Amino acid sequence: MINKMTEISDKLERQRKDDPKLLVKMQVAAQGQDPRFFIVSQIHRSTQDLKLLGLEQGDAFHGTRVSGCPLLSPSKSPVLFAGPAAYNGNFLQKDGVVITFDIDEPQERIHESLVNLTEHPELSGIPLIALSVDYGQGLAQAIGHSFHRNRDVEEMFVSRCVKPERCDESVLVLLCSDSRVHPPSTPVGVPYAIQTLGAYVSKYTGADDETMQLNDFFSGWLSTDASEKRILIVEHGGFTQEEPPCGAGQASLNLHQVKGEFLRPVIEILHREALRFEDGISKTVKDRVLAIGQATEHNLRNYPAIARAQEEGVSMESLFQIVTMDTVTGRLSEIG
Ligand SMILES: [Zn+2]
Repeated sequence: MINKMTEISDKLERQRKDDPKLLVKMQVAAQGQDPRFFIVSQIHRSTQDLKLLGLEQGDAFHGTRVSGCPLLSPSKSPVLFAGPAAYNGNFLQKDGVVITFDIDEPQERIHESLVNLTEHPELSGIPLIALSVDYGQGLAQAIGHSFHRNRDVEEMFVSRCVKPERCDESVLVLLCSDSRVHPPSTPVGVPYAIQTLGAYVSKYTGADDETMQLNDFFSGWLSTDASEKRILIVEHGGFTQEEPPCGAGQASLNLHQVKGEFLRPVIEILHREALRFEDGISKTVKDRVLAIGQATEHNLRNYPAIARAQEEGVSMESLFQIVTMDTVTGRLSEIG
């Protein structure tokens, strides 16, 4: 399957180079990123949201909400939410924080998520765009709330919604929150995606936190056709000449420069966890992000829901694969 996804990414790269507007986005991406938006999507809507809301390369830095669960407070969701939101605080443009909900999600879940979102100090003062989405129709409505709103930005998103591509529930992509990398398309549609700093996912803690939500997600996801499911851990940056490195990976090699209540602890975890898979500290960001990918795979294999799937005969070699993506062109490559 990865061969087909690589072919698709090559084709999309050629199409983007033929589109003057997207070509400019790629030229800007080669210089760095300054996304206008921070978006928090559910795992199964993460890739669809980009298409739905017309977000192109470089437009939005990404955080993750576990499907069907409320967004947790920053302290209970360091890797999926608080770390990416803190990293986003370094950018100059702050036009909005966008969070999407399925049209049938309960009011209490929406309210709890918005309260927890606004608890993050780096998001304070930025307009909060909460959208209720009918993904089947490609329609969204702004959800009223008592936090900071911007009706113009809400209207811009609502008016430009388009119906997203079909979701391929057999593929879950772990990808960096970086606004320049988008989840790769599969032969069937767009994948599920978890977007975090460096595509890192924590080990299961057993506590009432984001890892418990994730374990419940994996339990549900692997309850049908588990042997058909694929988890692609996509690392990016520095694999081709002049390609900009992964910022989170780079930060983990320069810890002394990293500050912030919610950013520093996550980057420290990346560093500590990557070290376990390195033969001495990595000298390049490229080697560092590959070690982060290995740490993530190791952590995920020890989630109870995934360990149970293995006991029931699901091959971990088939389930997991670490691949790389070019930050600028989006081209996928197998390692080696
Ligand atoms: Zn990155």
